[in-house]
Amino acid sequence: PTPDWMKPDPEQIGVDLRTDVPHSARIYDYILGGKDNFPPDRAAGDLSLAGWPGVRTSMQQNRYFMNRAVRYLAEKAGIRQFLDVGTGIPTAPNLHDVVQEVAPESRVVYVDNDPIVLAHARALLTSSPEGRTVYVDADLTDPESILSSPEFTDTLDLTQPVALSVIAVVQFIPDEVAYDVVRRLMDRLPSGSFLALSTATGDIGDGIHRAAAAYREQGIFVALRDKAAVETFFDGYELVDPGVTLTNDWHPDEKALGVPHGDSAMYAGVARKP
Ligand code: SAH
Repeated sequence: PTPDWMKPDPEQIGVDLRTDVPHSARIYDYILGGKDNFPPDRAAGDLSLAGWPGVRTSMQQNRYFMNRAVRYLAEKAGIRQFLDVGTGIPTAPNLHDVVQEVAPESRVVYVDNDPIVLAHARALLTSSPEGRTVYVDADLTDPESILSSPEFTDTLDLTQPVALSVIAVVQFIPDEVAYDVVRRLMDRLPSGSFLALSTATGDIGDGIHRAAAAYREQGIFVALRDKAAVETFFDGYELVDPGVTLTNDWHPDEKALGVPHGDSAMYAGVARKP
């Protein structure tokens, strides 16, 4: 849990949380059992769960995938620099907790466009003394605003590989924009960099379609992509075995094993830029 001294004071930092409308970051927090959400977020979350209770398993398994993927990148691929876009409300363990456990010198740039995440950013800035974590309030649909931010340019050394993680974000962005913006970020990273990405799929059953409809009724765009459409994000990169799979099937550990097929509606993959 977030210690009290890290709890944000939105008024003090001048953030308008727009608590009157549901936000995807807070719905996700609510469904995962967090406390950083407001009545419209809870109402939207409940509608989505009423559409399909598997939304909760999907989100939990997605978070576990993130943990395993970045651990893999730090341990097996030797990556020491991370760019995480669509970070979400801090949830232990955060990305830097995982990778700095492997390599304390790891550097992490977090990016999100939601004011609630900005309000909590201090909880993401608890780097190991050897490493560094920074936060950028920016939008994935404007990659240049990320790439030109002083936090990005001062923190990451672009002569060395970087892992770009875009975990459970592109379902909120239509195809016409999503493929292009992920590619523009990857284009800026050197050879040997990695892309880790997960996103929602409609492939595994009807339930997720009802849950997505509940989001859309609340004014939140949701794209459900089939496997080929998720693989397209990785075109031109070398997918790490076993390729694009449901999140729970990617290098499963005890938390992922035993999740019945059909209970988790997100695909995930990790790939290396040649
Ligand atoms: N990556 C985290 C959080 C996923 S929730 C995890 O997997 O656990 C999705 C997050 O993406 C939310 O915090 C939301 O605010 C953020 N997001 C959605 N659209 C975005 C955009 N266009 N630019 C930046 N962040 C975005």
